[in-house]
Amino acid sequence: MRARMVQRIAAQGVADAQVLAALGAVERHRFVDSALVNQAYEDTSLPIGLGQTISKPSVVARMVELLLGGARDAQGRLGRVLEIGTGCGYQAAVLSRVATEVYSIERLRGLHEKAQGNLRPLRLANVHLLFGDGMAGFAKGAPYAGIIAAAGGEAVPAAWIEQLAPGGRIVAPSQMPGGTQALVVLEKTAGGLQRSVLEAVHFVPLKSGIA
Ligand code: SAH
Repeated sequence: MRARMVQRIAAQGVADAQVLAALGAVERHRFVDSALVNQAYEDTSLPIGLGQTISKPSVVARMVELLLGGARDAQGRLGRVLEIGTGCGYQAAVLSRVATEVYSIERLRGLHEKAQGNLRPLRLANVHLLFGDGMAGFAKGAPYAGIIAAAGGEAVPAAWIEQLAPGGRIVAPSQMPGGTQALVVLEKTAGGLQRSVLEAVHFVPLKSGIA
């Protein structure tokens, strides 16, 4: 079922072999409640508790592919990555296969602990789960080759831009003037920040503070 999910994602236009291999390797059914296991490989977001959702696999693939479009090392890997919104930890596990280090921050203690429980058996030594408000980024891990947000705000916080390495990329859902949400890519180039607005998306809101 997972292999078929990857085939469908490839057919939708995701071409990066590393991204497809990562989605093929991470067992998404381990990250959802037992009642939802039979939907784990459908291309749909699913509830993970506390009003939050695990993102659609095709959207995870698309965003990680965009993130990898930035600077990579000689092995084709991305350096340190910051994820805002750990949720159940699924995307952090996917990122652990394409980046050297993954810092993932979650503002809801219940989900931070759920992700710890989901990821512990996978023993991913390069994933660091943090509890806190990701609007401030995580300065101790900076600079990041990539920053990826799983929740959408009005504007990309200044802290993320400060903590981004030269050549690095931010991939984040962002609110557009009409109130809709779109995927935004910011790239830190020698000539300044380059912003591209891509397709419409539907993410849970980026909120400040912890709970
Ligand atoms: N990547 C997750 C998706 C979780 S949904 C997964 O694979 O399951 C997005 C998450 O962002 C929610 O858990 C929400 O609580 C969290 N979030 C929203 N605002 C945040 C903030 N300011 N800092 C950290 N996490 C935040």
